[in-house]
This record gives sequence, C-alpha cells and structure tokens, in this order.
Amino acid sequence: MEGAGDKNVKKFWTNRSKFTFNIFYTQLQILHIQSKLPNVGTTIFTVMSALATEYNAVNLGQGFPDFPMDTQLISMVDKAMKDGYNQYVPMQGYMPLREVLAEKIKFLYNTNVDPQTQITITPGGTYAIYTALTTVLQPGDEVIVFEPAYDSYIPNIEINGAIPVRIDLQFPEYKIDWDEVRKKVSPKTKMIMLNSPNNPTGAILHEQDIQQLRSIVSGTNIFILSDEVYEHLVFDNFLHQSILRYPDLLERSFVCFSFGKVYHCTGWKLGYCVSSSSLMNEFRKVHQFNCFSCNSPTQVALASFLKNKESYLWLASFMQAKKDYFENLMQQTKFTALPSFGSYFQLYKYNRISDETDKDFSIRITKEYGVATIPVSAFYLDATDNKVVRFCFAKKEETLELAVQRLMKIK
Ligand code: PMP
Ligand code: GLN
Repeated sequence: MEGAGDKNVKKFWTNRSKFTFNIFYTQLQILHIQSKLPNVGTTIFTVMSALATEYNAVNLGQGFPDFPMDTQLISMVDKAMKDGYNQYVPMQGYMPLREVLAEKIKFLYNTNVDPQTQITITPGGTYAIYTALTTVLQPGDEVIVFEPAYDSYIPNIEINGAIPVRIDLQFPEYKIDWDEVRKKVSPKTKMIMLNSPNNPTGAILHEQDIQQLRSIVSGTNIFILSDEVYEHLVFDNFLHQSILRYPDLLERSFVCFSFGKVYHCTGWKLGYCVSSSSLMNEFRKVHQFNCFSCNSPTQVALASFLKNKESYLWLASFMQAKKDYFENLMQQTKFTALPSFGSYFQLYKYNRISDETDKDFSIRITKEYGVATIPVSAFYLDATDNKVVRFCFAKKEETLELAVQRLMKIK
C-alpha cells in the first residue's frame, strides 16, 4: 500500500520534473546568444574548398600542399610515439624543440633568444596570433592592420573589444604607405600587425620598411604582431626581414610561426611564438588556460628534424621552383601575373577575360572550368575589389598542369 510519504516523493518528482521542464521551456523561449562576431560567416577558404569538392575542381584556392610531406619527419613522429612521448610536455613546449629553435634564430638572424623564457610552442600560427592579441588588447584599443589581411586578424581584434584601423596596401605592389600609418597612429594605438611574406599578395617587407616601422614605434607603447608563418618561403634571394633580426623591435613584438606551413603538414596545427621575456610571461598566462600544452610526438620529432639546417634551408628554392613553374604555365592563359616574392600564393588579374567581381568570377570558374581560386576582396572588410584572384601554387606539378590546361580554355 502506498503511504503518504511515497505520495509526497512522487509529487516531489512530478513537480520537480514539471519545474525542470518549465525552466527548460522558458529558457528555450528566452535563450538568445548575442554574437561576439555578428558580421562573420564561414571563412572563404572553407567556402571555396567546399565548392571545389562539389564541382570536382582543381583546388588552387585554400593554401595547403597536395604533395607528401617529408617521410623522415613522419618516421620521427612514429618513433617518438613508440618511444613513449605520448603524455603532456611542459606548457611552454618541449624544451629540446625550443632549444633548436633558438639555435635556428641565432643562425638565421644572429639574435640571441632564451628558449626558457622567450619561445612558446602553440597549436598553430592562428592560435599564436589570437593569443598575442588577447594578451595585450583592452576594449577600445586600436590596432593598425593592413589590407588585404589574412582573414583571422580583424575578428581576432574585434573579439577582444578592440578596434581595427585599416590601411590599404598600395595596389598593385601592395607596399605599405608609411605616411598613412603615421596619420593613423593615435594615442589609442596599441599594436601594428605585419605579415611578411604576405598572404594573399606574396609581397615582402624590405629593410626600409623596418626603418620606417622603427621610427614610428620607438618611444611609444605600441606593440608589434609579426605574422611570419611563411618565414622560409622567400624568393629571388631576398632576405626575410624577420622582426627577429632586430632585438630592439623584438622587445615589443610577438612573432608568430607555423610548422604546418613550412614543413608541408598544415593539418598538424603546430606553431610557435617568440617574444621578449616579459611579454611572453603574459602570453603564457593566456595560453596555459586555453591550450596548456601541444601535441607531444610532433614536437619531439621536430626537435630532431630541425637539427639539420638543410631541413629549412632548401625550402625557399623548392617553393620558388613551384612558383616559377606555375607562372610560366600561366603565360598560356589570359590571366596576368602580379609578382610574388614569397608565401604559397600569387595574385592574377583577369581583366583580359571579364569585368565580373572577383567573387562572381571565382565562383564561375570553379563551376564552369573546374579550377578553384580565392577572390582577394575576401581579405578586405569592405570587400574592396581590385579584380584579382589568388592562386596557391604549393601543389604537385601535375596539379598545376591540370589547372592551367583548364584555365587556358577561358576565353
Ligand atoms: N597566418 C597566415 C598569413 C596564414 O596564411 C596562415 C595559414 N593558415 C596562418 C597564419 C595560420 O597558420 P596555422 O595553420 O599554423 O594556424
Ligand atoms: N592559410 C590558408 C590560406 O590562406 C588557409 C587556412 C585556413 O583555411 N584557415 O589559404
């Protein structure tokens, strides 16, 4: 027989579930997320890669190699896993990897960097950039950003409540107008963002740019974010003007790198950031509660792999050969090349073919001719359209040949 107690228990649970349901129902009605990035959609790289797949197009859009990465490096990861490197490495990164990076920095740029305090391994370059911005930006700060800009920069600034102050690189050479920078610097300027070799333009910084930068920031509290993910991919024997060459600038900089981009393993999502000890101390406060520590076996493998300087010294000529091969083939088409001095990318004008917007043109040639590109207007907040598209030449020769055979058909 059911007693009063049982009845109460039953009632309690019945009411409780009603109560829970009511709360849930009410929440469903009032749940409303205020977007932190209301103007952001899916990235152009994702959109164009999906279109390429749908139309079975050769994908020269999104920047990733289609040739295999170094098999020795793969074996080193395999060995690291078999040797038991499968648990957390320190939050700052695997020390032997940081040490070999400090040696590389000394060798290439003649700057002493303390691997203990100045280098942190991150899950990719994008993360390093986001973390650096989050480390220094306060709401209302201004950040000078050059457009066309890699697509993560402006959302990364805005999500921190800061304000992007946009300056166009001068078309068609995509140089920085330093007088314009001087005009745009204000008491609220917290940071200047640089990217050399540049995505999407293939432009690079020269020593004069560094002198101009120095004259603008010295004696101010302005930080520098230097995105150098294409560090080793600089053509025609130009020097890579890394901020790491300039210890006075490094004091105020976060310099961000990607192993994925240079060692042809973009899917590894591993990179690093170099800064002064005091800035890095703050960077690590953000990093330790976001990622904590990155994938171990890849760090162990890279620590051995990078001991051999050839592992990075051959990369510029390897990638330049691809750029030259593609540029040569493209002469058979009606596209006109703009010079590329580095990165995976080259921009092409299509004014001899069409006066469509770059977006319409890119979508049409993906669908009708089976070659995917990236419209450069996607790298401008206001969709400035100089009628140029970006091709990624970090591909096998046969991929580039097939793409050009198709592009030759465009009249
Ligand atoms: N910056 C630029 C300019 C890039 O092109 C890329 C490549 N995606 C990144 C940063 C990010 O590199 P990662 O894939 O290591 O995050
Ligand atoms: N950096 C690559 C590019 O510019 C793409 C990386 C991504 O899809 N986020 O194409």
